Amino acid sequence: MDDTNAIFEFLQNGKHVLDILRGIKDLLPAGAEADKAQEQINQAERALAASEAELAKALGYKLCQCTFPPQIMLSVGRHAEHDNEIFKCPKCEKQEPSERYFQQQGRITAHNQGGPSWVNSRGRR
Ligand SMILES: [Zn+2]
Repeated sequence: MDDTNAIFEFLQNGKHVLDILRGIKDLLPAGAEADKAQEQINQAERALAASEAELAKALGYKLCQCTFPPQIMLSVGRHAEHDNEIFKCPKCEKQEPSERYFQQQGRITAHNQGGPSWVNSRGRR
């Protein structure tokens, strides 16, 4: 767990360094130099996002593949009816488990609780 905290802190520091670099880039006069600096900052941002996704994966987080590096899906609470923990992508809002999954679970539960089913009428004659 200490290793995880150290990695997390390292990534936070990386973000801080990026903020500093953005500030320095803004001091450059517009032109080829500033464009090159911006491109390198963009590369550093992608590398940092990839490291964050790698850490999230190692910690067991779900990843959404709507972008690369992938987005980290965060818990948004539990489903009111089924109590499963729900995770959402902050970028595309994809949800896991999906609403469709819960609808299917609802149908299976309704089916198992009876209704006109051949299962319930078996062996009752
Ligand atoms: Zn997504």
